[in-house]
Amino acid sequence: MLSTTARPWIEATLPVVLEHGEAITRHFYQRMLGEHPDLKNLFNASNQAQGEQAQALARAVYAFAHHMDKPQQIGPVLDRIAHKHVSLGITPAQYTIVGRHLLASIGEVLGAAITAEIASAWDEVYWLMASELIAREARLYQERYWTVGGAWPELEVSALEASSSDSLTLTLRAQDGSPLSDFIPGQYLSVALPLPELGLTQIRQYSLSNRPGEGVWRITVKRVRCEAAKEGEGGPSPAGLVSTRLHEHLRVGDTLRVGPTAGDFQLKPGAQPVVMISAGVGITPMVSMLQHIAHSQPDRPLVFAYAATSEQHYPLREEVEATLARLPQARYQLWLESDSHSCPKALPGRMALDTQGLASWPDDADFYLCGPLPFMQAQRRSLLAQGIDRSRIHYEVFGPDLLGDLQ
Ligand code: FAD
Repeated sequence: MLSTTARPWIEATLPVVLEHGEAITRHFYQRMLGEHPDLKNLFNASNQAQGEQAQALARAVYAFAHHMDKPQQIGPVLDRIAHKHVSLGITPAQYTIVGRHLLASIGEVLGAAITAEIASAWDEVYWLMASELIAREARLYQERYWTVGGAWPELEVSALEASSSDSLTLTLRAQDGSPLSDFIPGQYLSVALPLPELGLTQIRQYSLSNRPGEGVWRITVKRVRCEAAKEGEGGPSPAGLVSTRLHEHLRVGDTLRVGPTAGDFQLKPGAQPVVMISAGVGITPMVSMLQHIAHSQPDRPLVFAYAATSEQHYPLREEVEATLARLPQARYQLWLESDSHSCPKALPGRMALDTQGLASWPDDADFYLCGPLPFMQAQRRSLLAQGIDRSRIHYEVFGPDLLGDLQ
């Protein structure tokens, strides 16, 4: 709990820290990575370039300082961060490095406004947040029997196939044939890929797209292509570093360095109905949930709503539709932005959850959302407008968490 000495300083300076949060965290990353270049392997170089990581960190620190007395609100935020940290293999010692540079950055960006009392109050907030995270992460590592700071295993690619015109599905198994540990449908793993052209290793998360209990891990990776500059939106965006390399170079029999499975986006146990709402490659965690339900609870009611730009961009389509067809309690709706005439089952255009016939949601359903950020924001707004309680809407963001639940 925050001390009575620190509290008034934090309350008084929260607005100014919020206002300069992104500048502080940008400065922080430059400062820390300048002094510890080895940590560049831990941070996503592309998110750094676009400033998204700085935004996410600024929001997290602000949310913690603002809501730290409301465990119900801050708990889920800390859980999400702890899961991501575990997937990256973050160690407690790294919190000391981050703390030193973050606090120095607050002083350097805000200058003379930061007195010794204010600096000490923010130091207290940082360590309250860090201790919470370290404890949660320790528990998650322990549950996975994971050696903190140890080398990640090299897993073998045992199968590899195109699962749409721009996605690749690969299965990973232990080299000694032992079954890989279980996970909860919705969770992800991390792949650490050396990029010799940058002299860096980069870590990316991929949602598991198979069901638990198979002893292997399967992921589906969309190729992120280079895009021309859009008017008024800065320069062109380069091809994705990791996805391009996986698509171009990976072969069956190769190995990949893979971290622990993690993620707070998890299919809830129980028999209550499930509504899965996804778009694009955001279908991957839903496929894991769907396969799990088909295997273990085939009578569980579910709605599967999916949107793609076209049929060619629908990953794992055959598998999904064949599975849904076997489930007596499943409802399915597809939207295609283009070429919908070639698919009689599809509705044209973007997903609209108030579509007639679909919006009679099953009672007590849990809603799972995954896809591009604007897609999720739109669907979440639509669900809230239809009276769905926010506690029943769960989501996964394929990048820094900028959905801003607490904002
Ligand atoms: P990056 O190199 O990271 O580039 C990402 C984007 O940034 C590109 O659009 C690129 O053009 C842009 N960019 C890079 N540098 C700049 C710059 N200087 N200026 C402007 N733009 C720039 N992906 C999947 O395909 N399948 C999954 O199942 C999946 N699950 C995920 C689960 C989670 C929990 C998370 C967090 C992410 C998931 N992702 C998934 C996304 C995945 O982790 C990667 O982000 C994705 O593969 C892109 O990585 P990349 O290295 O290829 O692209």
